[in-house]
Amino acid sequence: MSQRPLALFGGTFDPVHYGHLRAAWEAAERLDAEVRLLPANVPPHRAQPVLDADQRVELLRIALAGQSRLSLDTRELGRAGPSYTVDTLHGLRAEIGPERPLILLVGADAFAGLPSWNRWLRLFDLAHVGVLTRPGPARALPPELEQQIQTRHCALDGVWRARDAGCIVSLDVTDLDISATAIRAEYAAGREPRFLLPDAVRERINARGWYAVPGG
Ligand code: ATP
Repeated sequence: MSQRPLALFGGTFDPVHYGHLRAAWEAAERLDAEVRLLPANVPPHRAQPVLDADQRVELLRIALAGQSRLSLDTRELGRAGPSYTVDTLHGLRAEIGPERPLILLVGADAFAGLPSWNRWLRLFDLAHVGVLTRPGPARALPPELEQQIQTRHCALDGVWRARDAGCIVSLDVTDLDISATAIRAEYAAGREPRFLLPDAVRERINARGWYAVPGG
């Protein structure tokens, strides 16, 4: 009998918002999977998040309180240097054994950039990839990714569940045109991003004075 899938949803979460949370929730329901949110350790040579890892985790814990379908996995934060998804999946695969379906969840925008990820084709040996719809201009898919879709695309109710890895599954989630960038811009403009993220998260941000423009 196939085991319950484990899905990982990585991101910066600077801050976590309803776009992330609703997409993760719907993925958990549709895939009947355990979903873990996986905050990224941003390598020093990349644009740094505004909040550090501890602060982003503090907000994620608040956002995830009171339910058990979505959980938090902080394994990438303990690592020094860049944390490549392929290494994270490798570690998880070693923990869960060879048979349990593992799914990497990515928004459609992130999916289009997959070929630039470290050892990207190895990802398919370790996990399925679940692509979440996201509003906004569609990014053209590079030909090498189109080629993978041709052979790996699998319907939501298809064979992926009986396999450990290797499929690409599309997941239509409720369109919520929310981004962390837009939320940070609201703060920078001195406005309150109410209703774009959970109230408890917004209240903690306010209480800590995060994202506030100095002297603003
Ligand atoms: P930023 O605006 O700072 O780039 P973001 O809002 O895109 O942040 P990330 O933490 O970079 O959030 O995204 C993590 C993952 O969540 C990515 O795979 C991204 O595509 C997905 N995602 C983010 N927002 C949404 C949304 N509104 N709907 C669906 N997927 C989303």
